[in-house]
Amino acid sequence: MAEYDFDLFVIGAGSGGVRAARMAAGMGVKVAIAEDRHLGGTCVNVGCVPKKLFVYASHYAESFEEAAGFGLTHKGMEFDWPTLRDNKTKEIERLNGIYQNLLVNSGCELINGRATLVDAHTVAVGDKQYTAERILVAVGGWPNIPDIPGKEHIISSNEVFYLKEFPKRALIVGGGYIAVEFAGIFAGLGAKTTLAYRGDLFLRGFDNEIREFTAKEVAKKGVDLQFNNNIESIEKQADGSLLATMTDGSVIEADQIMYATGRNPKVQGLGLEALGIEQGKNGAIVVNDEFQTNVPSVYAVGDVIDRVQLTPVALAEGMALVRNLYAGANQKVDYDLIPTAVFCQPNIGTVGLSEEQAREQYDNIEVYKSEFRAMKHTISGSEERTFMKMLVDADSRKVLGVHMVGPDAGEIIQGIGIALKAGATKEVFDSTIGIHPTAAEEFVTMREPSSN
Ligand SMILES: Cc1cc2nc3c(=O)[nH]c(=O)nc-3n(C[C@H](O)[C@H](O)[C@H](O)COP(=O)(O)OP(=O)(O)OC[C@H]3O[C@@H](n4cnc5c(N)ncnc54)[C@H](O)[C@@H]3O)c2cc1C
Repeated sequence: MAEYDFDLFVIGAGSGGVRAARMAAGMGVKVAIAEDRHLGGTCVNVGCVPKKLFVYASHYAESFEEAAGFGLTHKGMEFDWPTLRDNKTKEIERLNGIYQNLLVNSGCELINGRATLVDAHTVAVGDKQYTAERILVAVGGWPNIPDIPGKEHIISSNEVFYLKEFPKRALIVGGGYIAVEFAGIFAGLGAKTTLAYRGDLFLRGFDNEIREFTAKEVAKKGVDLQFNNNIESIEKQADGSLLATMTDGSVIEADQIMYATGRNPKVQGLGLEALGIEQGKNGAIVVNDEFQTNVPSVYAVGDVIDRVQLTPVALAEGMALVRNLYAGANQKVDYDLIPTAVFCQPNIGTVGLSEEQAREQYDNIEVYKSEFRAMKHTISGSEERTFMKMLVDADSRKVLGVHMVGPDAGEIIQGIGIALKAGATKEVFDSTIGIHPTAAEEFVTMREPSSN
């Protein structure tokens, strides 16, 4: 006789929640999952997936221009925003359907609506209450918009995928990967684009040289980079355009102003405080290595615990939790050597330590670098350059970090990430035969350190 309605009640059908719910249901666990916006969460609806589709779109204008060097010309090019926006939405709706089927077919009970915690074993959705032996909070995050005059005119990544019109002038604020990616998207699709960031240089946390190189390349593509500058206030003009008064005293006119200034855990109104669930910075739920909160029947994974805000990390956390709870495993998520990409133009791919971190942690570092014009651009007319960098511990010979700015950097670094996870030394890289002609082969032919 079951004591509870469900074994596991998952709040939030995003990356972490769906994975955990499906896996648990597949093991015969009685699972319910509540979602109040859209199945698939941020990644599928207003994150990774629609963004990557827009990134693909934004490369075409440049590719058409480059094609002329290869003898292919075209007569005029037009960009129709509604076509891109609506084709993207159709694809997202298709994915929503797939998520629904995956959940239902795995045996989960899908509950539409906003869930709140009532007590350690009870969740309310609308006027209904459900009990569960365990509750998993996987509610993700929400864009952070600063409290400035005119903030009602600001859009975030939640709105940018559904704009009625494509802006002629876009002002992006922020220094993280989402801001840099959207600067590339807007510029690539033809908007006059400004990126304002209050710090000296964007992409804090990445290798400094990679940041500097990327800034040069992004500027070459026509993005007006305004570092050490921020918006003080925004005013809407009679014609609907926006005037941003900047901290440096200048005024920037734009049709859309998008903030990508971080995301906070979406914990407001969830009922955490009443249950005494411990929270950290910005409300992030504090969990132990088993993703358990200080209320033993309540667990949390994904962006809401604010460890690493990436989809594959939320998936890994969800899977580890379910294996530990229901399959007798004792798995820890390894947060070391997480490969990541920034889909700016050109892309950044990175895994492992930056040069700054490597120098801090190791006594003898070898730095290998290579900068070149990709073969394609020898006749494409593009001035784009590629940069690669590898950090090696000179004592153990282990490769500590690999970074790249260039086309397909994300695709390339995924494979390199496996090598680093396996503990590859510089000699393993050197004894690997290259694939010719590729840019990636440069990683196995870096002979002389540039400095140590
Ligand atoms: C613009 C953008 C681009 C991104 N690009 C990438 C990328 O390229 N690569 C990458 O790895 N990551 C990317 N991310 C990050 C990635 O989307 C997140 O790390 C990931 O979605 C986190 O998964 P999650 O399960 O923690 O939360 P989410 O996917 O956010 O899911 C949480 C779900 O919970 C629901 N929910 C919240 N509160 C309640 C409630 N009370 N009741 C019911 N349901 C609730 C929400 O509606 C949401 O569907 C991007 C994010 C953004 C915003």
